Amino acid sequence: MNKAQAKSRIEKLRKEVDHHRYLYHVLDKPEISDTAYDSLFEELLALERQFPEFFSPTSPTQRIGGEPLKAFKKVRHAHKQWSFDDVFDFEELKAWEERAKKMIEKSNVFGGRKPKAGSLSDYCCELKIDGLKIILSYKKGKFAQGATRGDGVIGEDVTQNLKTIQSIPLELKDNIDATVVGECWLSKKELERINKGREQKGEPLFANTRNAAAGSIRQLDPRIAASRRLDSFIYDIDNIGGLASTMEAKPPQTPRTQTEELELLKKLGFKVNPHYKHCKSIEEVQKYYEEWTSKRDKEDYEIDGIVVKINSKEIQEMLGYTGKAPRWGIAYKFPAVQVTTIVEDIKVQVGRTGALTPVAHLKPVKVAGSTVSRATLHNEDEVKRLDVRIGDTVIIRKAGDVIPEIVSVLKNLRNGNEKIFHMPDICPICGGPVKRQLAGNKETAAHYCLNTKCFAVEKEQIIHFVSRKGLDIVGFGEKIVEKLMDEGLISNNADIFELKKGNLEPLERFAEKSAQNLVDAIERSKKVAFEKFLYALGIRFVGEETAVLIANSLKKINGGKVRTLKDVIDIFPKISKDDWMSIKGIGEKSAESLVQWFDDRNNIKLLERMRELGVVLEFPEKEEGAKSHKLSGKTFVLTGELSGFTRDEAKDMIRKRGGSVSSSVSKNTDYVVVGENPGLKYEKAVKLGVKIIDENTFRELLK
Ligand code: ZN
Repeated sequence: MNKAQAKSRIEKLRKEVDHHRYLYHVLDKPEISDTAYDSLFEELLALERQFPEFFSPTSPTQRIGGEPLKAFKKVRHAHKQWSFDDVFDFEELKAWEERAKKMIEKSNVFGGRKPKAGSLSDYCCELKIDGLKIILSYKKGKFAQGATRGDGVIGEDVTQNLKTIQSIPLELKDNIDATVVGECWLSKKELERINKGREQKGEPLFANTRNAAAGSIRQLDPRIAASRRLDSFIYDIDNIGGLASTMEAKPPQTPRTQTEELELLKKLGFKVNPHYKHCKSIEEVQKYYEEWTSKRDKEDYEIDGIVVKINSKEIQEMLGYTGKAPRWGIAYKFPAVQVTTIVEDIKVQVGRTGALTPVAHLKPVKVAGSTVSRATLHNEDEVKRLDVRIGDTVIIRKAGDVIPEIVSVLKNLRNGNEKIFHMPDICPICGGPVKRQLAGNKETAAHYCLNTKCFAVEKEQIIHFVSRKGLDIVGFGEKIVEKLMDEGLISNNADIFELKKGNLEPLERFAEKSAQNLVDAIERSKKVAFEKFLYALGIRFVGEETAVLIANSLKKINGGKVRTLKDVIDIFPKISKDDWMSIKGIGEKSAESLVQWFDDRNNIKLLERMRELGVVLEFPEKEEGAKSHKLSGKTFVLTGELSGFTRDEAKDMIRKRGGSVSSSVSKNTDYVVVGENPGLKYEKAVKLGVKIIDENTFRELLK
């Protein structure tokens, strides 16, 4: 083969190899087998070695190789590399559209005429690939330089490494000057393959595809980048010289819209993500977003949102930039599934089987669209495996219908004040003995409280607390209390006020709506009448009536100073048994029980936590007013059905007027109110000669 023949053969081979590279890596439609491709490549390589005078930097053989660099050269970008502002929901997206529209109206640039292409409501939506931004420059159609974004003004020259990416053309299909922008990414499969290799070599694993892509592109030795199958999507033209006529299909001179720009990029030989969509309204954009929020995991590359651009280039230009970001585009992020937060405490919960479950109490954090404050740590072994300590910064994950969990601990952020957690020797609820044993599945071991009644007692307490006569939290039934206790989300009354929507959603019984409803109901219940709250605490011998008696006699207790939950916390523990008994209607048993309850530090701590979590007590209106009412100090008994109000409403009205309601008739009863179908109480009242009144008379009395 003479020189001329060799030159011609080399040129033909280069074209052919590049063509098949394009079919395989850009279009994903190979026409020849890998082995056929390899033999073409080998022939080219051999000829180039034999005739080094025909060397070309854009030959397919020049993708791999090159000597390791000492350092990356800095590159000043010809165009500032912006990044888009973020929005996270439809409201924010609409607000962005609104701002853009207002600005255009105000400027009146189109003054009645229409923009050349597209309208104000035309958008181009593209997937936001979670990779590394790259800027590629071509001179006369040949790949000249590739750079990272850096700080947007100055990046690093990573040409050698970018050349190893097979989907990046070394020569365009037109001999033009161009600067284009795109994303370099690594597939999930490839990450798995790389991590497997690293694991075998005992090297640290890459946390995600973005880290792996960035790590590979910023390698000084291009052979490392070449060994990782990086890929690319190009989505923007920063600058383009006059389009020559060498292209087979003549492209539009200058793209007038983003969609035309993407078409042009494809024609030039770039790999463009195929899932972009031209949307004709903001609602259509929302639909695209929702569609991809659920489909995001199906692609082999990571997507962290969509990018919405106003399609018309003319409008884009008019809107310009804020100094921070373009006004004509926005990144619409998917709800995060992994975020970091702080472990404020680790507490132990007792489940139905008696198993003690350590639960991380987190600084509340928004993840996957809702707030989360708890994450189960399952058992002691899991705490040890994660090496999670109180005070640690952790990564938590919540994906749709999965219970939030701690993925890992960021140990580098420790300051030495973190506390190691130990499982308790005694049950934190009942104080009974605890034993480590195999769980039901025989595979894991856990600590168990040996007191079989432990869970049941605690459960009853909570059910009582939230019941209608207590805090009256709508939708908080027994089954839900059980479930939440089992999941380690609550183990006492105060825990209820820390529940977050994100903690509830993953549980079986909660669709998103009912999780929201329950959270709302809990929020409402934080403002509660003192007597209801006192009753809800479940103090022995302190029933509804006793609680009301105490509420109406607060003046007697410490001169009426009790007006807030803080007062209750400060003053109640100091009240003696005799003081309690000085309230008319409170007997020895109730008084003793009250003293005991408020003497227990754990109970006071519980009240303090409730106060911190926003529980506010409402006290009876001025007691003087109540006293002056004719019902003040009178005792009522209700029997039979009233037509105008429910039993509870009637009780409330009596109490508000300073009266009290008793469940049984005695000589001390002032009135027995008799409705339809009265019971034995009526007969007893007749026997004792207590005043009996009907509903109408009762109404009169209430006035
Ligand atoms: Zn126990």
